[in-house]
Amino acid sequence: MASERSALFIFFGGTGDLAYRKLYPSLFNLYQKGTLREKFAVVGTARDKLTDEKFREKVQKSIGSDSKEAEKFISHFYYEAHDVTDKAHYSVLKERAVELDKKYKLQGNQIFYLSMAPNFFGTVAGYLRSEGLVNDKGFSRLVIEKPFGRDYDSAKALNEALAQSFDEEQIFRIDHYLGKEMIQNIEALRFGNTIIESLWNNRYIDNIQVTLSEKLGVEERASYYDKSGALRDMVQNHIMQIVSLLAMEQPVAFTDSDIRAEKVKALRSLRVYNVAEAATNFVRGQYDAGGKINPYREEDNVPADSNTETFVAGKLMFDNYRWSGTPFYIRTGKVLADKFTRVDVVFKKPLVDIFSFPGSSTSKPLDTNVLTLYIEPKAGFALKINAKNNDQGFQTAPVTMEYFVDPEDSKKTPEPYERLLHDALKGDGTNFSSWQEVSYAWKFVDQIRKVWDLQQPNFPNYTPGSMGPAAADELIERDHRQWVYRLNK
Ligand code: NAD
Repeated sequence: MASERSALFIFFGGTGDLAYRKLYPSLFNLYQKGTLREKFAVVGTARDKLTDEKFREKVQKSIGSDSKEAEKFISHFYYEAHDVTDKAHYSVLKERAVELDKKYKLQGNQIFYLSMAPNFFGTVAGYLRSEGLVNDKGFSRLVIEKPFGRDYDSAKALNEALAQSFDEEQIFRIDHYLGKEMIQNIEALRFGNTIIESLWNNRYIDNIQVTLSEKLGVEERASYYDKSGALRDMVQNHIMQIVSLLAMEQPVAFTDSDIRAEKVKALRSLRVYNVAEAATNFVRGQYDAGGKINPYREEDNVPADSNTETFVAGKLMFDNYRWSGTPFYIRTGKVLADKFTRVDVVFKKPLVDIFSFPGSSTSKPLDTNVLTLYIEPKAGFALKINAKNNDQGFQTAPVTMEYFVDPEDSKKTPEPYERLLHDALKGDGTNFSSWQEVSYAWKFVDQIRKVWDLQQPNFPNYTPGSMGPAAADELIERDHRQWVYRLNK
């Protein structure tokens, strides 16, 4: 059993999709594992008028269990109808908080989880402080959902608003990719293995490719997505986080502040493109019709002349000693060939290939070594190396060494939200984005957006089921390279 933690959770947006689909089931997992036991309470709050009983029924449905244990778990749930813009309501919330703190012996520990539209984040944080919900008795932490701003300026304004009420170490900015098992494994692989980390630089690595491929279209998120696009929705947060974990130096120790310091340092050496560079190093796409899929512009809630990108590919360069000259290629998009996230680390070939040296008895050139990190849906890694094949004579052929997490074990792997809620309870910020990381990521992404906003794209430009527009292949092929994951043409 895990060690028990105590806290009051207040979920703003407590009747929303995310709360029911991810947050309450994750809390139930923590309950079943013993992290939460007796000393916790949950207040769901939103505009809907619900009684505690009605709310509990909905929570029970969301966790999909009516066991005795589930019943005990949901008896810790309470509901407050509340409009977050109404200052007066915070005193009601405070009363509830004080009463529940006493009832469940919560020692003043509180987690305020803002699972609602980001334009409310500043307002809620301000009232939590001004109306006295934040106290010094235990910990008071603010967990906030994405997106964190829509460009550097808006993110900065939001951060300044939050900073008036909460210190940076009290703010936990969710990036659920950081809760994924194999993303966390990047650090184990790199810093736990001399054979990997000693090669992890521009002398041995030719390029690194990060692909976040989605099979679905925009579905019911269209009205949100159309104002965001793939660059803001996926690149600024998830991809930049993955890239900084791949690029960073070894932290002094495995602590949140040491890891963040290294990620920030890596992001500081990421080359921020000027207009011309941004135009050459990034490409965008929008999907057309294909099979049963409508063109993006004909999806519900998408304007017929939308120029929102549903695909991005780009090349990132770090100007530092470790990475100078080694590009990181990234891509992400909707309605692509398959749903997966992976990182391909492409090593350089031996400087001299003796096997294809004139006069050698073999004829085939050596293949490239590739280390692939499979993030999802399968979790594991594979290393492609050259060996002699079994035939008579001497010929090299690539073989692959693989490790995959057993699907049975995978089922036991905590869901990202469970892990992140657990980390927030422990006060461990390792797997959340710090303000500095967020700000460097926005500064980089803003340059690309700036160019794109000036130019009319040639949309639609890719077919569902493909790996994006032809320009994404051209981007890497012009450097005499290829995507490791590609469809047979
Ligand atoms: P949602 O629209 O389903 O829920 C919003 C919640 O906010 C509801 O409970 C609603 O009653 C409440 N609300 C709205 N206005 C209010 C007001 N003035 N006062 C009090 N309550 C109010 O949204 P969601 O999908 O659950 O998303 C919540 C947050 O999580 C957003 O920031 C979103 O970007 C983020 N997010 C969601 C998902 C997801 O899968 N749904 C994934 C990643 C991030």
